Amino acid sequence: MEQESVLRTFSLTKLYGGVPAVDHVSMNIGRGEIYGFVGRNGAGKTTLMRMVGGLIRKSGGGFELFGCPDADPKEYLVRRRLGAIIEAPAVYPSFTAYQNLEMQCLAGGVTDTSVIPRLLERVGLAYTGKKKAKDFSLGMRQRLGIAAALVGKPEFLILDEPVNGLDPQGIVEVRELLKSLNREEGITVFVSSHILGELSKLATKFGFIERGRLLQEISASELEHACRKSVTLYVDKIAGFADAMRALGVKDYRVISANSAEVFAELPVSALAFALRDAGIDLLRVIENDVDLERYFIDLVGRSAQ
Ligand code: ATP
Repeated sequence: MEQESVLRTFSLTKLYGGVPAVDHVSMNIGRGEIYGFVGRNGAGKTTLMRMVGGLIRKSGGGFELFGCPDADPKEYLVRRRLGAIIEAPAVYPSFTAYQNLEMQCLAGGVTDTSVIPRLLERVGLAYTGKKKAKDFSLGMRQRLGIAAALVGKPEFLILDEPVNGLDPQGIVEVRELLKSLNREEGITVFVSSHILGELSKLATKFGFIERGRLLQEISASELEHACRKSVTLYVDKIAGFADAMRALGVKDYRVISANSAEVFAELPVSALAFALRDAGIDLLRVIENDVDLERYFIDLVGRSAQ
């Protein structure tokens, strides 16, 4: 059975002065996913999120939220199932955490304020008492913003760059909070960042955007697979290579040419050399490929520009 979509966009486009900020983007976020939206500054992340959040109008294409088309007059009903922080969190600096959430309840028409203590507990701000938001750390303010977005009990949370500017501790706190909201309350999360590494420990699926275009959607496990360490071996001949790999117990390799192959395994070079020699092959050169996440992204963007 196909996974239920929480957000699906179809050729969604936004033009500013005739220039596309979001250019025919078709993406799909399934229920239960943590979707990491990765792109450099100005790539179009915020613009797409603003369209989906109903803050700006689209120029073309469309989207469905919980299966409801954006053109549907009842779309406002599904919008209630959504919580968002796009750009800065709506935090009132001279209010305490509790007062901030009271304001949020008021703004969102939530009459039952008994949710507030539980929400503050949930985001780790239950003990901030009379402290005003302006005296909070950036990470605390971000968590307060998330609590505010949770007031209406959303099933889908859209967060634009929630870890931007946070120190490593703050990043971990926000990441763990989002993971637990996803795991324990089944909230689907759509989160952007310009740093892939920041989302790599959080997202279950990634969408890469560059100059308004969606370059790729990839699951976390596919990305991990694509970023694995490998070695490229240059040999005098490739015949017998498969025997050598079998002898080493290596299944994950690919022959590149008559004189080279890529092996995805961490093995001592000596072990490779011995196994190849036993198969009648001379090992001429070894290159270690350490494809990290940022490299993967840069390569992807580089390929899109060609
Ligand atoms: P950042 O991380 O810097 O916010 P982003 O990926 O969110 O980047 P957007 O803010 O969506 O990118 O911007 C995409 C493009 O659209 C940029 O070139 C930006 O200058 C342009 N843009 C965004 N908002 C407007 C606007 N209101 N008027 C004109 N151009 C805009």
